[in-house]
Amino acid sequence: MRDGSTLEHLLDGLDPSQRDAVRCEHVPLAIVAGPGSGKTRVLTRRIAWRVATGAADTDRVLALTFTRHAAAELTRRLDALGVTRPSREQGVTAGTLHSVALAQLRSRAARRDRAMPALLERKVRVLLKIVGARGAEALALAADLAGEIEWAKARLLAPDVYPAAAELAGRAPMRGTAFVAEAYEAYEREKRRARLVDFDDLLWWCGDALETDEEFAAQQRFRFRHVFVDEFQDVSPAQLRLVRGWLGDRADLTVVGDPDQAIFSFAGADPTGLTRFARTFPGAQVVRLEHNYRSTRPIVVAAEALLADGGGRRPARRAAKGDGPVPRVTAYEDDDDEAEGVAARLRTAHAEGRPWSACAVLYRTNAQSAAFEAAFGAAGIPYRVRGDARFLDRPEVRAALDALRAGSERAPGAALEHHLTDLELGTDPADASRQHAAAVTRLGREYLAAEPGGSLDGFLAWLPTVLRNEAPPSDADGVELVTFHRAKGLEFRTVFVTGLERGLVPIARADTPAERAEERRLLYVALTRAEEHLELSWARRRTLGSRVVGRAPSPWLAPVESALDPPAAVSPTRAARSGLDAARDHLASSTSEEAANPDVLAALVEWRRGLARASSVPAFVIFHDATLRTIAEVLPATRAALLDVPGIGPVKIERYADAVLAIVRAHAPRASTVPA
Ligand code: ATP
Ligand code: MG
Repeated sequence: MRDGSTLEHLLDGLDPSQRDAVRCEHVPLAIVAGPGSGKTRVLTRRIAWRVATGAADTDRVLALTFTRHAAAELTRRLDALGVTRPSREQGVTAGTLHSVALAQLRSRAARRDRAMPALLERKVRVLLKIVGARGAEALALAADLAGEIEWAKARLLAPDVYPAAAELAGRAPMRGTAFVAEAYEAYEREKRRARLVDFDDLLWWCGDALETDEEFAAQQRFRFRHVFVDEFQDVSPAQLRLVRGWLGDRADLTVVGDPDQAIFSFAGADPTGLTRFARTFPGAQVVRLEHNYRSTRPIVVAAEALLADGGGRRPARRAAKGDGPVPRVTAYEDDDDEAEGVAARLRTAHAEGRPWSACAVLYRTNAQSAAFEAAFGAAGIPYRVRGDARFLDRPEVRAALDALRAGSERAPGAALEHHLTDLELGTDPADASRQHAAAVTRLGREYLAAEPGGSLDGFLAWLPTVLRNEAPPSDADGVELVTFHRAKGLEFRTVFVTGLERGLVPIARADTPAERAEERRLLYVALTRAEEHLELSWARRRTLGSRVVGRAPSPWLAPVESALDPPAAVSPTRAARSGLDAARDHLASSTSEEAANPDVLAALVEWRRGLARASSVPAFVIFHDATLRTIAEVLPATRAALLDVPGIGPVKIERYADAVLAIVRAHAPRASTVPA
């Protein structure tokens, strides 16, 4: 237990509800809140707080994060808070679920004098063999199978039960569910034969071991008494089972998450772990945080408008940062043009003093990175691609790992830290490979932080597990290229959200309402990564494979744009905007307001204000300004005519048609009303 002053500093820079969440003595506890509300910050402080107050024992804390980067960041912050490491050998264990499961399985194998099977990094390799064909079609089929098998394993479904479960979930694999079940069975057989494990096995096996091996379970439960999980909305049943396994019958669990950011259901995650937390963990308490500290107001407005357009009704999220530049939407001629446009804007931002690494380019699919890589290469913009598995294949990285292996052969008894130091000191500072060696040593130290006393073998097994979703670590300043999915939890001052076209956003294969809702949340995650500058773009033509295809903007650009471009009459932020934005607003409003009936518009705005106040939602949740303006222009007389107004769907008709039609009738001159 520390003295009061040390304790108080753990609450610095937190608002009252964040402080309450940090100090809350109740467990199990779920902290549920929107993007940028400080969930990750609060989770870190809560760990520190519980350690400092004696509620938790440092060496027995297990903190589970979604990425290696987040785990490293957590360890760093806890170190900075001065509560983590009484000795170098122990301390808080922070890692991804996969890396912790791997470490436990390795130590279990070692105790039983068995070798841990090798890690199969890409399922497709084995699946291509099973499919028995070559070419693009076989590759697509193998990738489809891999996706289905991952989903099944995340949900703990064996091949025989897969078809029924998949059909129930509305999945539609390329060759049907029976075919998948057969391939899945063959895949598992082949894996056993070749003595391989895949990423999903790490979770499944560790869960099995916790349930069937009492000694192992007792050891892990002795080791970990206090469990903390970030991004809990994306936990799968296989992961939830692990968390339960580690907890045993104890209740010391804190999770944080946001159901609006659940984006991995397609891969088997189940947000009900969070939304029904109190049912899953009886006696649990749920607390909420209110403000968005990450993004300026226009960015919050844009993102919330996107959710509201999906029918979500939610309390207003206040942007603690206040006003900032209005997000810009750009339509480019084609994808190369888009990449060059983004490069040009990045150069400008950099010239104005923004470091490259404060900027990120986000896209829906991996393939989209190619155009940006080419354009940035040509423009001399340094960048790194997150989730780029090729890092481990680079000759310089292989050389660094070989040097570690050689060192360990020379001095087999020495600790990994010793070899890491050798590598660090042994690399010529003038050598171009120095950066890669530095990256490897940094990763080695991260590994040791997650697994104190870990070995070189352990490190080599850990590497591919944690690099799967991450950018290779680097000291160099560079723009981050990252998919929407991998951007989760991250933040950047400047964010480009690109490729906002039908077919990409939402992705073409998302055809059920649930899939489309997940795609919408995915875009929400992307938009909410931005702190100050948000740029949205799409291209009129895009090269897909060998074809050039005409494109249409994403249907979700409209609600975002209309939330950002309110008419002057109802724009509270107008005064704070730049001259250019104000001029644009003026233009937009003066041309269309001439057509709009001012009495109807005023009555609609008044009605909306009352309703918004009564139901405590922001006005745009009811109708965007642009929608009201169109209504006042078109003066619809029937539900059908109202449904034709952009921004009005069946849900809005259901809720508001009667009121809106009555207002139009009361305030519009009869003659100009559009007939039924
Ligand atoms: P996400 O849902 O995207 O993961 P989050 O809820 O985890 O977001 P954090 O990343 O913890 O949010 O916080 C967002 C940003 O706001 C961070 O830069 C954090 O340091 C900052 N922040 C959080 N709380 C406060 C506060 N009370 N005052 C100032 N800044 C804060
Ligand atoms: Mg977070």
